[in-house]
Amino acid sequence: MKIAFIGLGIMGSRMAANVLNGGHSLSVYNRTKNKAESLLKNGAKWADSPEEVAKDANVIITMLENPDVVEDLALGKNGFLPALKKGSVWIDCSTVNPSFSKKMGEEAEKHGIRFLDAPVSGSKEPAAKAALIFLVGGQADDLAEVQPLLDLMGNKTIHIGDTGKGSVMKIMINQLLGQSMLAFSESLSLGIALGIDKSKAMDILLDSAVTPPILKAFRSRIEDENYEPNFPLKHLQKDLQLFTDTAYEYEKATPSTNVAKEIYALAKQKNQGDLDFSSIFKFINE
Ligand code: NAP
Repeated sequence: MKIAFIGLGIMGSRMAANVLNGGHSLSVYNRTKNKAESLLKNGAKWADSPEEVAKDANVIITMLENPDVVEDLALGKNGFLPALKKGSVWIDCSTVNPSFSKKMGEEAEKHGIRFLDAPVSGSKEPAAKAALIFLVGGQADDLAEVQPLLDLMGNKTIHIGDTGKGSVMKIMINQLLGQSMLAFSESLSLGIALGIDKSKAMDILLDSAVTPPILKAFRSRIEDENYEPNFPLKHLQKDLQLFTDTAYEYEKATPSTNVAKEIYALAKQKNQGDLDFSSIFKFINE
């Protein structure tokens, strides 16, 4: 099977490497070519545009920053959607909003392309270890066809429902992630201000039933003040924005997420956008 991959950032570069290791013929495109270097050394082919990468592909995978970028590369100048062969499958793994996934599903259909929204749960390390969880929206038989490919990049796939449902589930998860990290940061920061030892406070909070287990993974970052990005703060802020935009579309109120979104936006404004999202602790504490 000929696979095309667009978007070789933190996640995409690692996912594409696993596709290549699986023995597929892989063509890649990325805005910044040097991020493709190690893939090219290992046998991937470079394409100079989204249009070119799509030409021979049976399946195209996108792992891009946000909906605007996905739409631009799919349908803008030299976009990949019109260049794909009819009957090919487009798997969009980017975290986007559900109505955008539905719109891309419709655009794909107009071009005779089958579409799956397949955002992932898991960050840089699970991407490297092929341990991502795919949350998929779209037709079950299209998913069944590409399942062996997803199995090269992840260890679990959940078919959530029709087009857009994968994206619904993904923004639900990231809303919880963002809110949890923020609440933890406020709690820890207050404790420290009142004289509780930071390490002792973390021992107790992270062992408590009220703290989500995932936050344990961020302990060393907060202790060492090492915020090298696995999941950049600007992406988490984007996901909260997509969550609140979606709530607006469906006339639902999400007051606490709106507040959290703006706190992350303030941190982004203070040049923390490219740090890991756990650096929200640094923002709150300072
Ligand atoms: P990243 O490292 O910032 O990579 C973003 C990708 O989008 C890069 O390939 C980048 O190209 C491309 N891009 C950005 N703006 C562009 C533009 N204007 N035109 C063309 N290409 C553009 O992000 P990531 O962490 O891999 O995340 C990718 C997606 O996965 C996001 O939707 C994110 O929310 C989601 N996600 C991330 C994680 C995580 O832990 N990191 C986990 C799950 C889901 P360049 O290389 O040229 O910048």
